[in-house]
Amino acid sequence: MTRTQQSRRRTAIYRELAEMAKRAGLPVPTVSFPGYLDRVHAKNRRRYAEVVPDTMDFRFAKATWDLDAAHRRGLLAHEVGHCIAHREIGPQHTEDEADACALQVLGVQMEYDAAWPGKGLQMAARTNPTYYESLAAHAEYGDAADLEDFGFTPAVEEYYGDAKYYGRNVIWVGTEGEMIKLTPVQLVPIEGNIFDFNKLATLRAAIENSDDRIELRSGYAAMSRVDPDSVRESIEYAEDNQDGELTTGDEDLDAWLVDPRGAVADGLYRTQAEAKAALKDAVRRKQGHLGMWIAQVRDGNHRAFAAVAAGERYVYLKVADNDLQDMRAALKGERSTFTRAEARELRDMLE
Ligand SMILES: [Zn+2]
Repeated sequence: MTRTQQSRRRTAIYRELAEMAKRAGLPVPTVSFPGYLDRVHAKNRRRYAEVVPDTMDFRFAKATWDLDAAHRRGLLAHEVGHCIAHREIGPQHTEDEADACALQVLGVQMEYDAAWPGKGLQMAARTNPTYYESLAAHAEYGDAADLEDFGFTPAVEEYYGDAKYYGRNVIWVGTEGEMIKLTPVQLVPIEGNIFDFNKLATLRAAIENSDDRIELRSGYAAMSRVDPDSVRESIEYAEDNQDGELTTGDEDLDAWLVDPRGAVADGLYRTQAEAKAALKDAVRRKQGHLGMWIAQVRDGNHRAFAAVAAGERYVYLKVADNDLQDMRAALKGERSTFTRAEARELRDMLE
C-alpha cells in the first residue's frame, strides 16, 4: 500500500469515527495505531481495536486499513457502542449492550462475519440512512403519560379483513395479505415528520411496561429500492438539508455520481468507463445502501419508531399492493443473484 493510500484510509477511519461520536453526543475522539496492537492482532485475527471510553481514546491495529467498508463500519460502530453503553449503563456493560447502542443511536445493525475466529468480526450489513438523531433519545426527551391522552385504546377496534401480527411486546393489527415485516434499519420517517416527544415516550413506556402485549393499529409505508439514482438524489438533497444520506458505500463513487466530470478531473477515476465499471460492481455486490428495500413510514411514525425505541426487532406495516408485487417479482426474478441471507430477508419481509 502506498503512503497516500495509507493516509487516506487513516483519514477515512478518523472521519467516520468522529461522525459517529457526534451523532452519539460524545466528545471528539482521538485515534492512534500503536505497534502493540499489531502484535495482538497477529496472534488473534479478531482483535483490531480497543477504546478507553472515559478519554475517547481509540486504538487500532494497522490491519484495520485493509478492512472493507462494511467491516470497518461495523468495527467502529461497535467501539462507539461501547462508549455509549459506558455512558448509559456504566463500565460493567456487556458486548450485546454495546451492539444494542450501535443500533439505537447510530442506526447500525450489527452482524458477525464467521470468516473470523470465535464470535466472528463485526460487520455492518446495512445502515439506516436517517438515524441522524437518536430515536431512543427522542423518546427519552419526552414525558410518559397515559395512552388515552393520545387517543390510543388498550385494544384496537377491529374491522373486517383485519389480522393480528405478533411482535415481542406489540400485537400489530393490520389488513390481512397487505402487511410487511420490517427491521428497524429499513424504517425511514416521512420527510418533515414532527415527532411529539411525549407521545413517543408514552408509547414506548406502554410497550415496555405492559404485562401483556399491547395492541396497536399498524401504520402505512411506501417501499422503495435504493438504486444509483436514489443515492445521487439523496446526496444532492442533503447538501442543503442535513437529513442523512444514502451511499454506495464508497466515497469516490458517491462523488462521481453527483459530478462525473469533476470526479475524473480530480483523479478519482482515470476514465468514465472505469467509474461505470466500479458502479456496476457496487450494484452487483449491493454495496452500501444499494439494493436495500426502504420503508418510508407515511402513517404511524410514532407507533413504528416508539416500538423500535422499546426494542422491538420487527415492525409490521401495511403497504400498497403494487409495492408487494414489486417485491415478490424481485424475489422471483433475481433469485439466482441473491445470497441465501438476502432471499431469506426478503421472504421474511413478505411472510
Ligand atoms: Zn467489544
